[in-house]
Amino acid sequence: MITFDNVTKLYDRNSRPALNSVSLDVDRGEFVFLVGASGSGKSTFIRLIMKEEHATRGTVYVAGANVARIPSWRVPRLRRGIGVVFQDFRLLPNKTVFANVAFAMQVIGRSRAVIRDSVPEVLKTVGLEGKDNRLPHELSGGEQQRVAIARAIVNKPGILLADEPTGNLDPTTSLGIMKVLDRINQNGTTVVMATHDDDIVNAMRKRVVELRNGKIIRDEQEGIYLGEP
Ligand code: ADP
Ligand code: ADP
Repeated sequence: MITFDNVTKLYDRNSRPALNSVSLDVDRGEFVFLVGASGSGKSTFIRLIMKEEHATRGTVYVAGANVARIPSWRVPRLRRGIGVVFQDFRLLPNKTVFANVAFAMQVIGRSRAVIRDSVPEVLKTVGLEGKDNRLPHELSGGEQQRVAIARAIVNKPGILLADEPTGNLDPTTSLGIMKVLDRINQNGTTVVMATHDDDIVNAMRKRVVELRNGKIIRDEQEGIYLGEP
């Protein structure tokens, strides 16, 4: 589903690489934790998948396509196949829960009828039944992140990328979010989650890919993470 073939990313000529000769395959349906200290290259990895940044050397493939060869007019189609969730939720503050999720469908031209059916269904998946008419500020942090996840998956992407999705949440709330991500993964979506939260990684026992200074130093099935050295 995602392949990095000897990928190096330099943001500028003189700095050390953000990613340094990274090669990795993520199969369809996998759940992968991308771990490492702040600055190790996790966000860069995610931005390369979305074609928000370009590899300096090497090749990134997403769903069989070399992203460097995707013309700009087709980038929206690439991104439609990828849901993304961030640490800071990024909800529209003046729109209801329903409207935040509906918005993702409106922008790709889905009909009102389809939106009316899909939004309640996806809100149920993330455990937000009955919260349709709330505004983001009326929700807890965990609930806001559930809205963001609902918005990310409502168009049924093959890939869900999560960049520190539990970074603003307490441990109990974080575990609830992980259960949601696990359920989405079990429904067939490939999930890549960047985190430096060792407790979360150790509670889940998924594949763990560890970055240090832009290099993969470890790749383990049912792995653990001991945190930053
Ligand atoms: P992480 O997500 O693990 O914290 P990042 O991918 O954000 O790591 O950063 C990896 C390295 O690349 C760091 O040294 C960071 O300072 C640098 N970096 C990240 N984004 C940029 C950017 N837009 N311009 C220049 N350097 C960047
Ligand atoms: P806009 O800001 O585009 O005028 P809204 O933010 O009010 O629209 O909502 C976007 C869409 O979601 C509209 O079609 C609206 O009717 C619909 N909508 C909002 N909340 C609900 C809800 N709780 N149940 C059903 N439809 C809703």
